[in-house]
Formats: sequence, C-alpha cells, structure tokens
Amino acid sequence: MMLGSVVRRDPAMTVQQAKICKGCWQQMHMPVPLRGVLSLPFRAVGIRPSRMNPNTCTICESMFTTVMRARKVTIDATVMFADLRGYTTLSQALSADAISGLLDVFYDQCAGAIWEQDGLLNKTIGDAVMAVFNFPIKVPDHARRAVAAAREIQRHWSDGSSARATEFGVSEAALGIGIGIHSGELSFGEFGHTHRDLTAIGTVVNTASRAQTAAAAGQILMTQAVFERAGSDVASSGPKPYQLKGFDAPIELYSA
Ligand SMILES: [Zn+2]
Repeated sequence: MMLGSVVRRDPAMTVQQAKICKGCWQQMHMPVPLRGVLSLPFRAVGIRPSRMNPNTCTICESMFTTVMRARKVTIDATVMFADLRGYTTLSQALSADAISGLLDVFYDQCAGAIWEQDGLLNKTIGDAVMAVFNFPIKVPDHARRAVAAAREIQRHWSDGSSARATEFGVSEAALGIGIGIHSGELSFGEFGHTHRDLTAIGTVVNTASRAQTAAAAGQILMTQAVFERAGSDVASSGPKPYQLKGFDAPIELYSA
C-alpha cells in the first residue's frame, strides 16, 4: 500500500491570509497583526492565529471573557457537521498510519473550505468535523456560506476519490462524506469547569448533527431555515420528511 501519494493541500496556505485578525477588527476595530514582523510582540504574549480559523486570533477565542465579560453569548449562526462515511469499517482493515493519513486529508479539505467562507472549524470529533459560521467573523449570509463550504468539501472529495480508492485499496463508493446544516440561535462560549471547551451548544447544533446522520454519502442535507436564508437556488431537491433520532415529529430537509 502506498502512502502519501494523494496530493495534500495545506489548508492554511490555500486560504487568503489576512494580515490582521478579522474578528478583532470587526468587533473592536483593533488591528491585531497575525503574520510578519509586526505580529512578533503579540506572539510573545501568546496572541497568535487561532487553530480554528487562521484569520482570527486567540483573543477572539476568549472574546466573551475579555470583551463581553460573559462566559457565553447567544448568536444567530449556521452549524455544519461533515462526517466521513465508511471510516469505521475501513479503520479495521487499514494500518494506523493509513488511517491517520486519510483523516488528515479529510480534515484539511474541510478546513480549507470552511475557512474560505470565514467559518470556524470548531471541532474534529473522530471522523466528523463541526463548523460554525458567523462567529467570531460576522457574515450576514452565513447560511449561504455554509452551503458553499459544504459543496466545496463534496467537490474536492469527489475529485480525489479515484486516487484515494487506489491508495487505500477500496472501492470509490466505500468512502463518502455526509453533511448536515442548520441555522438559528445558539449559545457559544466556554462550557465546563474541569475541562473548558470553547464550543456552541443548543437545539440548532443537535439538529445539524442529526441532519448529517440522515445524509447519504455524497449528500448535503439542510433544514428549512437554511433553505430560506440561503436562497432557493441552493436546493437541488426537497423538501422530504426525515424521522431524526430524538425528534418526535419528522423534519423537512432539502438536499443541496
Ligand atoms: Zn482576534
């Protein structure tokens, strides 16, 4: 088995790199240099590009405590979950190196697409990623941007699918990405005392996660809220009712 033959992209290199933090500039009109000589004194005191979005900084990550003097904020945002289907089955057949190589490619491609739309790659959870759009960089069209990022992820993954199938010795259909998207009000902040976690919580997050579970490999499923905000041109079909785990009534989802 050949490793490393799939062309890797460094997501931070492919995204337009901001010279100053977009989040701090937007929220406080404070120019925080992210790169170059001017950023050195900032780096010396621990202010550096955020790992969740390289065009924002570590101040943005703790904006609640430093600026808003709160532990969390309620924001209107869009949440996207993307999950690598077939990964669990494959992970039993592949070596640890091959598996981590596969996840690296998946994470990198998701990161590049999410950052391109000014989103936050909030978490990687095993074979899934969770992204939030509209924080800390405010983007009024966050629903449309989430759909654009989702499409980019699917397009890139499908472009590389035959090379990947050869590399990992599987069929092209064995590995695909399922994506779910939902918009609405959620709580974003630091949760937990012993282990502080910077993340979003609420029904919007759960619904996006459940929509992702319902999506087939290669599919993007979005809720009515996303469809209405993103504009009718984003949907290719739907709505269709889906019975999602944890929901009493079926939920209407559109395929993007
Ligand atoms: Zn910042």
